[in-house]
Amino acid sequence: MRIGIIAPPWYPVPPWGYGGTEGMIDVLARGIMAAGHDVCLFTTADSTCPVPRLHLLPEGLGVAAMADETAELTHLDAAYSHLDDCDVIHDHTLLGPAVQSASCPVVTTVHGPIDTRTRQFLATYPGNVLPTAISHSQRGLAPSGSFSAVVHHGIDMRHWPVGSGSGGYLLFLGRMSPDKGVDAAITVARRAGMPLRIAARIRGPEEKRYFIEAVRPRLGGTVEFLGEVGPGERLALLGEATALLNPLRWSEPFGLVMIEALAVGTPVVTTRWGSSPEIVSHGLTGHLAATTSGLVDGCRLAASLDRDECRASAVERFSAERMVEEYLDLYRSALHPGPGVDLRGSGATAVVGDG
Ligand code: UDP
Repeated sequence: MRIGIIAPPWYPVPPWGYGGTEGMIDVLARGIMAAGHDVCLFTTADSTCPVPRLHLLPEGLGVAAMADETAELTHLDAAYSHLDDCDVIHDHTLLGPAVQSASCPVVTTVHGPIDTRTRQFLATYPGNVLPTAISHSQRGLAPSGSFSAVVHHGIDMRHWPVGSGSGGYLLFLGRMSPDKGVDAAITVARRAGMPLRIAARIRGPEEKRYFIEAVRPRLGGTVEFLGEVGPGERLALLGEATALLNPLRWSEPFGLVMIEALAVGTPVVTTRWGSSPEIVSHGLTGHLAATTSGLVDGCRLAASLDRDECRASAVERFSAERMVEEYLDLYRSALHPGPGVDLRGSGATAVVGDG
């Protein structure tokens, strides 16, 4: 198959640090090429993903540009016209399938939350578009029949070796947002009596304000802020942590940080929001809690969990190979829908139809 992948124009693929969507696209594009297919990734020129690439924009535009759709529209115009000869287009933007038309099937992965804007887009996509959710939780928040399939993200396990877990600290890894619960992580760590390291990107004025008002005044002592970290530091931090502390306050569609932690053998202590219960097995690979006290208890118990169990669960459920196979099945189904296969409402878990 010839598969055209469209990345959003905000960050390069892969990103240097923060960037769940671009990280996932990197793994997918490499995996599809390794599986013997013809891939073309439409991204920005500063991307380094080692597959054939095309671009219009010289570099990722950054989040400030998200407010203005013009640049994204220009990027998408160029992407759809350059990928016209593909068998399938896999679009990772919400806007693309709504404003562009393609002569081939379009699989689109919805990476963001199910808000009003997303619902509107999902309702307007033409019949050759197969929207894919990244967790059952995300799918459940959309009107019934909106999604063709659920495909959990996967990561390349070769790049995430098991760490020692001997650092004696909790790690927060993500974005400086109240939704991600950075302030809650500080409260939990202090109550658990455990050191906390915070690695996070501060994105835009709202996150800056949150940092200044709710996080910075509480730093110091055993709570350390490291800023945004790149791949090497991230791996070391995750591998040596006693647990990843992920006290979400929102229905996050999929938390890549949780599968990265499990891959390196680090248990995850998190709230029961969004995709968390689909990723973490309570009492086995981490702790799912509904309250601050529950999170505190989870942190105290984390060191007694079996790190090999965490790794095994990641390898079995969140490998790049599994994700790539499921998307390839989806592309095949999109190209050759079987009789009676309802592409929009199949209720399939990961794969639509059997091609
Ligand atoms: N990340 C990073 N450096 C940081 C903070 C985050 O490399 O300082 C990475 C993290 O390892 C993960 C991604 O950014 O790969 C965040 O993805 P996730 O799905 O967890 O969060 P979202 O994209 O939904 O905000």
